[in-house]
Amino acid sequence: MRFEISKVLDAIEGRVCTDPALARAVVDLAEVIRWQNLDGGRPASLLRLGMVIDALSRQIGEDSVQVYAIVHRALLSDADLTSNERMVVRRWADDGLVEVLDQPGDRMLEVADLLGLPVLTRARLDGLVGRYPWLGQAGRALAPVPGAGGPVFIAHVGGGQDPSTGSRSPAGVKLLSRKWRCPEPGCALFGGGGGAFADLAAIDRVPSEQPPPTLRTGAPTCPRHGSRLSDAGPRPRSEVLAVRIGGLVRKRFVLTEADPVAVGRAPDGPGGVQLGQWLNDEARRWISRSHVRFDLGRGGEVVVTDTSTNGSGIRPGGSMAETDRIPLPPQQSRTLGEGDLIELYPGVQVGRAAETTSDATYAPNSVMAEAPTMAMRLPRP
Ligand SMILES: [Zn+2]
Repeated sequence: MRFEISKVLDAIEGRVCTDPALARAVVDLAEVIRWQNLDGGRPASLLRLGMVIDALSRQIGEDSVQVYAIVHRALLSDADLTSNERMVVRRWADDGLVEVLDQPGDRMLEVADLLGLPVLTRARLDGLVGRYPWLGQAGRALAPVPGAGGPVFIAHVGGGQDPSTGSRSPAGVKLLSRKWRCPEPGCALFGGGGGAFADLAAIDRVPSEQPPPTLRTGAPTCPRHGSRLSDAGPRPRSEVLAVRIGGLVRKRFVLTEADPVAVGRAPDGPGGVQLGQWLNDEARRWISRSHVRFDLGRGGEVVVTDTSTNGSGIRPGGSMAETDRIPLPPQQSRTLGEGDLIELYPGVQVGRAAETTSDATYAPNSVMAEAPTMAMRLPRP
C-alpha cells in the first residue's frame, strides 16, 4: 500500500508548479489537505490535492493540468500528515514546485491577482472583493465540495462553476517582464546556491519558471525569505503551446528563444515533449521519436521544423477540412500563422495554447489512476 501511495504522490508532483505560464489555478495546500469530507478519511491527506487537481482537469477538459500551491511552513512538520507525505512536501519545497511561506496571509489571492488565475478555496471571500475586484467575476473563486464521482466546484461571490482565467494585473505584467534574484543562498524560487558560479547557474534557469514576487512590502520581495529581490534583467519572451490528441488537450509546454522544444514519440534529451503514452499502435509507428521541433523567433513567431521520417501537415487556422491540410515534408520549416496547428498524425496536433482547445466530451485521465488500489479505496459519494 505504501508503494501505491508513493506512486500517486509522484504523479501529483508532476501537477504542482510555480510557473506563471503553466499554472491554471491557485490553492492553499494547508486548506486542501484538510477537506476531510472529500473522502471521509484522515484529518489531513495529501491525496486530496490530487482529487482537487482531477476536478480542475475535468472542469477545464484538459489532461496534465497544473496548480500553483501556497504552503504554510507549519505544514512541513504537520503531525496529521504521514511522514511520507511530509517528506514529499519538503521535496516539492526544495525543488521550488510549491511556494513555502512563514506567514501566507493572503498570498494565494495575491498570486491569483498577479497571474489572473482562479482560486480554489473554501475560505470566506466576501470582505475581500474591494481589494480584489476580480473575485466578483464568474469562475474566479470556486470552492471544491464532494460530488458524484469526485469533487465538484461551487461558486463564491462571483458565481459560476467553471474556472475562468482573467488577465494578469498591471503589477503582475510589470513583475513578470523581469527576472528576479533572491540574496538568500539556495533560494528555490528566485535562484539559489552559494557562490558566484551557482548564482550564474540560477540566472540561466528557464526564466518562465520564476514565480511572481510578492509586493506586500511595496517592492518586489521573495515570498519565502522576505528579502528584497534584485532585478536580474528582462525576462525573455515565451509562448505556451499545447498538444491535442484525439480531441483532448494532453499537455502544455513553454517555448522560449533560448530553448527550442522537440515533440515526438520519445524525444532525446531533457525538455522534449513525449507523446508515446497517449498514442495508439498505428500512431506510435508513424510518429518519429523526435517528430517536430519548435523554435521561438526574435519577433515572437513560432517556427515549426519537421524532423521526422514521415512528414507532418499544417492545419491552417485550425481547419480540420482535409482539402485545407498543407503537407510539411521532412526537414522543412514553417512559421505558424494565427490559429495554425501542426499535425504529426491524424488527430495529433500542436498549436498555441490559446488557440488549441479540447473538443470537450473526452474525459481527462485521473492523476490518482497511477495507483488503482488507492483509487478503489476512495469512498464513492
Ligand atoms: Zn528567496
